[in-house]
Amino acid sequence: MKQYLLGVDIGGTAIKIGKFDLFGELLEKWDIPTDRSDHGSRILKDIYEAVSARVSWDEVKGVGFGVPGPVTDNVALTCVNLGWGIVDVPATFRQFMTYEDVLVRASNDANVAATGEVFRGAAVGKKNVVMFTLGTGVGGGVVVDGKLVDGKNGAAGELGHLVIDFTHKILCKCGKHGCLETVSSATGIVNLARIHLQSSSVASPLRSMTDFSAKRVLDLAKAGDVIALAAVDDAADYLGRAIAGVLLSLNPEVVLIGGGVSHAGPFFLDKVAAKAQEYSSPFAKDTPILGATLGNDAGMFGAAYLVR
Ligand SMILES: [Zn+2]
Repeated sequence: MKQYLLGVDIGGTAIKIGKFDLFGELLEKWDIPTDRSDHGSRILKDIYEAVSARVSWDEVKGVGFGVPGPVTDNVALTCVNLGWGIVDVPATFRQFMTYEDVLVRASNDANVAATGEVFRGAAVGKKNVVMFTLGTGVGGGVVVDGKLVDGKNGAAGELGHLVIDFTHKILCKCGKHGCLETVSSATGIVNLARIHLQSSSVASPLRSMTDFSAKRVLDLAKAGDVIALAAVDDAADYLGRAIAGVLLSLNPEVVLIGGGVSHAGPFFLDKVAAKAQEYSSPFAKDTPILGATLGNDAGMFGAAYLVR
């Protein structure tokens, strides 16, 4: 009897696998390492075997995958972090699986994280949701009328690569300059702190550190450090501009902020919300900007949601 959904979040170093009941309750989760050798050709087989060791496939209704790259119609177009070129995820996975009646679906990991938050997290019951995930980079996910939007080339929700900073024009890993990701990710906050350190002589504990994290900058900003506060205010300003663009194009019910940077809590989110409000005024009033609640599990929940 079908009683489980599987949600699989494929990352560049680890793969998170979640076993859910049909209502989306997480029953069990575990990680396996990502084998990127031979262009990641063993990744899906490794997942099949890892699941087979714990779950009987005839009890599985479906398995959903979040993959780190653009996806259209369940086909990954390129995943640099996995070594993948074009991979038809369901067709490839079915080569290992003899059960025809198991649904197999795939979508982009950041998009899937957004649906995870709609399924069981901070946006339960909402049909129009945009999520920004602020980690090393910036991921985005867009849900419209309850449906995940992939777009024509799988590029929907690539919010981290909105060009938004025309002042510092920092080179992004996508090849452009001034992407949101260069100023509002964890890396971006560090970038901005370094810029403020160079352009001012104000004292700051950051001056004596050769290396520091975004968390350090956020903690110092909370404690009133002028340099750190300027960097965080700038990061919030840039993110506010990007969110305002989203508010004015989609008018979602809620905007979620996830990823490590969101752990700074209301201190950061309130600044972002004020800027988003300012830049989208007088339209799209009072759209809540909330922290995501599922953390690193959002991708797993969202992947399971693909086959609910
Ligand atoms: Zn970029």
